[in-house]
Amino acid sequence: MLVFKFGGASVQDAEGLRRLLRLVQTYGGDSLWIVVSAMGKTTNLLENVVQAVRDDRWPEAMEFWGQIREAHLERIRPLRLESGPMSSSPECPDLEQVLDTWMNRLLEELHALRGSQLSYNCFYDQVVGYGELLSTALVSAYFEQNKWGHRWVDARDLLVTDATWRDARIQWDVTVQRIQEVQSQSLRNQKGVTCVLTQGFIGRDGVSGRSTTLGREGSDFTASVIAHALHARELWVWKDVDGVMDADPRLFPMARLLPTLSYLEAVEMTYYGATVIHPKTIQPLQNKGIPLRVRSFLHPEAPGTLIGGTDNTDQRHSCVIVKKNQGLLELVSKDFSFISEEGLSMIYRALYEQGLKANLARHTAVSFSLVVDNDRYKLQPVRDALSPFFEIHLTEGLSLWTLMHQSDKMRRGLLSGKQWLFEQHLNDIYQYVVVE
Ligand code: ASP
Ligand code: MG
Repeated sequence: MLVFKFGGASVQDAEGLRRLLRLVQTYGGDSLWIVVSAMGKTTNLLENVVQAVRDDRWPEAMEFWGQIREAHLERIRPLRLESGPMSSSPECPDLEQVLDTWMNRLLEELHALRGSQLSYNCFYDQVVGYGELLSTALVSAYFEQNKWGHRWVDARDLLVTDATWRDARIQWDVTVQRIQEVQSQSLRNQKGVTCVLTQGFIGRDGVSGRSTTLGREGSDFTASVIAHALHARELWVWKDVDGVMDADPRLFPMARLLPTLSYLEAVEMTYYGATVIHPKTIQPLQNKGIPLRVRSFLHPEAPGTLIGGTDNTDQRHSCVIVKKNQGLLELVSKDFSFISEEGLSMIYRALYEQGLKANLARHTAVSFSLVVDNDRYKLQPVRDALSPFFEIHLTEGLSLWTLMHQSDKMRRGLLSGKQWLFEQHLNDIYQYVVVE
């Protein structure tokens, strides 16, 4: 059995949907789960909706809602024409009707949540997952139009999580059980394929029953959880790039494809901020020895990158990772005392509670400095929790560069003309806090 994951860029237009169906039919094997993200930039637009509703700018929220509907309409219009006006029937729903059903559900949800007392992050999770629900509902209707038998499943009924909004943690035992149940209940389609279609990124808090999200770009992780639960043969992530590169090609035009990577190298790269796959994706696969293929949906015949196997320290690949939009948080104890283990654990607890990670940390006598993602909705509660004990200063406009397994000469070349606040290195992993 295989698990496929399609990101937002693979389903950003009608051609993407056609291609998705072709890839599923061509490469799918006889048991296939398909995890799909929100189409194009829908998640960003939904974030705008959330922001506008929270700021009491309802007309603007409705404008963004309209933009989401319009963008989806544009994607499905060519597909509707293709199958002709007679294609709509109770068994084969019209794509526009499907779109409107979900857009209206979103609207109802927004009305219901509008005056609620929910925290920002919880509110966010109730809204932002609609991108995935919409996209999979449309893919499902398109599959039906094309008589591709499958089962659509609401991922919130599979992925049971805690209530860490925007970074929910999976409750493994019950999640694995539910995924296995769905697999065993699903039937083969006309082509003899057991095919399940579901959303990435979303889950449900096992206690309150509210929707949760796994963190931005979390659909890869969903696919990995499913592959783990089902002992899949492989997980294939279909992307708009050829595979994993040794640098971000948008920043470094000389970037090269890495044909193979060990799990450890992939974990390190994602840990330091490589965005090609979500950081949490590797571990569930590594635990079961399931290979991960990163493949290009534009050039499916190309081999892409194969991630798996044990690490060979002599053959480490060199690469550059740039994590943008970073903030340097400097904490100084108010009474000029040393920052003890107790102080440190308080700082890390505050980060943990907001789902923030210290991307780099440095300790001096009376201060502690952290490089973190500059997300004001997560940073503000951290500052609130720590301000009784520390003077806190935030420097914005930074990026964190991680240069792995590179010669001095390569490092110098990459950093020429850059200015950085400080650097830190261990073995041959070098990190620089660069002024953007
Ligand atoms: N749609 C979500 C996002 O854009 C999740 C994902 O694409 O993986 O972050
Ligand atoms: Mg995405």
